[in-house]
Amino acid sequence: MQEKTWDYNYSKGEKMKKLIAILLSLMLVFTFAACGDKEEAEEPADTQETAEEVQEETAETEEPEQETETADVKKDNMVDPSEVPLRGDEPPKGNDTSSRGIPELKDVLTYDDGDLMVLVNKYHGVTADYEPTDMVVMDNSLTTWENIRLKKVAYDAYVKMQQDAAAKGFNLKVCSGYRTYDGQQQLFYNALGVGEEYAHMSSAYPGRSEHHTGLAVDITSASMGWGLTQDFADYPDGKWLYEHCHEYGFILRYLKGSEDITGYKYEPWHFRYVGVEVATEIMEKGITLEEYLGEA
Ligand SMILES: [Zn+2]
Repeated sequence: MQEKTWDYNYSKGEKMKKLIAILLSLMLVFTFAACGDKEEAEEPADTQETAEEVQEETAETEEPEQETETADVKKDNMVDPSEVPLRGDEPPKGNDTSSRGIPELKDVLTYDDGDLMVLVNKYHGVTADYEPTDMVVMDNSLTTWENIRLKKVAYDAYVKMQQDAAAKGFNLKVCSGYRTYDGQQQLFYNALGVGEEYAHMSSAYPGRSEHHTGLAVDITSASMGWGLTQDFADYPDGKWLYEHCHEYGFILRYLKGSEDITGYKYEPWHFRYVGVEVATEIMEKGITLEEYLGEA
């Protein structure tokens, strides 16, 4: 009986050991299973990282190709418009958000590299913070508004032209020179108030005005009553300017009959400095800056 009791006790002890062993096994299995779950949960994250890395690598591979393309045809300060957020692309406050027929830009200049042949028009723009270098404030006696600014090279040429015009008895003044992005934005949206077609033919979209280069002037006169009228070229002073502007390095920028090329109506008062040599060729041929540059 005692033996039996011992057996019983022994067998009871064995059963306990087996139970503990089973419990331990279960715990181990559960622990491994949990680790497995954890690994499985982490796996997609690893895959995602790899996918991101691949994406990054792809982007890195694509980028130099774009740069090479850009370097072939563009200058250091010229970038693809998609790379530059233009403030003018934001819808104007209080106006509707349609594109208003504003064409897409081909490129955008980020800074002034001093090139006198800089082309800014409906398709070639400048960034909002583009600032022409070597600027001077015009003498107020030569302007209808105070503190009109120009690039020095254009200003010096204008002073000579103005003095020679004055010697002929013509009374000319500059009513517009350098314009900032914000100033141009204001002008454009004022023009929109008159009408969309009028705005597009008479006023530049901000970042696309030649006035932003500091190389353009609008010239008014006593003969025009200090306004700007399209018959200016019929006036003796307007005629003289048209015939002699190239001698000072200026061209008449928006010609009659070239509206399709320049994108603007005829403006006998808007002159652009390009230097005597180029101005002489352009005025003698009667062509636009776009045609001269092969950008028509
Ligand atoms: Zn102008």
